[in-house]
Amino acid sequence: MDGSELIRFDRVTKRFGENTVLDDLDFSVSSGKHVTLIGPSGSGKTTILRLLMTLIKPDQGTIKVDGDYLTHEDRGGKLVEAGEKHTREVRKKIGMVFQQFNLFPNMRVLRNITEAPVHVLGLSKDEAEERARELLDLVGLGDKCDAYPTQLSGGQQQRVAIARALAMRPQVMLLDEVTSALDPELVAGVLDVLRDIAHTTDITMLCVTHEMSFARDISDEVFMFDSGRVIEAGPPEKIFSEPEHERTREFLSAVL
Ligand code: ADP
Repeated sequence: MDGSELIRFDRVTKRFGENTVLDDLDFSVSSGKHVTLIGPSGSGKTTILRLLMTLIKPDQGTIKVDGDYLTHEDRGGKLVEAGEKHTREVRKKIGMVFQQFNLFPNMRVLRNITEAPVHVLGLSKDEAEERARELLDLVGLGDKCDAYPTQLSGGQQQRVAIARALAMRPQVMLLDEVTSALDPELVAGVLDVLRDIAHTTDITMLCVTHEMSFARDISDEVFMFDSGRVIEAGPPEKIFSEPEHERTREFLSAVL
């Protein structure tokens, strides 16, 4: 990838009632990079992903994806949101995997993956199925095309959810604590798949994770959040080995 800026937040503020969850936040992610967001619970990490998915909107600030605005401020400082059609186009560039896998329970695995490429991207059924089989191989589930989600373990369902997100050929994958709902013995398989994707594809990744060794392995850059602000950012070897900020040291000593 060319390293151009894919995601940009400029002075983004998000409040829920009296609670200022993101406070004048600036940050950016370059194309092809793998960025992880770490920090205490409630520091605003998931809110960033939800803003990018347009599940919620900011109170103030500019959010830009691949040069397209989701929100900006007019000259008077008033928030302007992109129109519905434009927003839909921007969202096509983004794939998201949640804590809960949210597969369609009444559809077999293959159809879970082909549904959106056929209906949203307009791929033919054959094209979508070919791609879905490749992706199932990539996540180590090539033999599960005909299974229903309930016949799979949580880890396998999450790997299907990863394949489903990739099937839309997004430019960026947002990963929101994708292993937190899993039994401990299933975590490694999912992280291995993500490591593999990080190391073998040029997709941009923005991950919220509590898995510090995973963050260390895949990240080009780590952002440490506290109370809605990035208090420290840098390559993983710096953040994990020589953190500058006292809050980062405290957080890491509690989780490592
Ligand atoms: P993190 O991902 O770092 O744990 P979140 O972004 O999920 O943090 O949440 C940040 C803060 O925003 C928390 O205090 C949370 O309670 C609050 N919050 C998140 N979503 C909502 C909501 N829909 N309504 C009210 N408060 C919310």
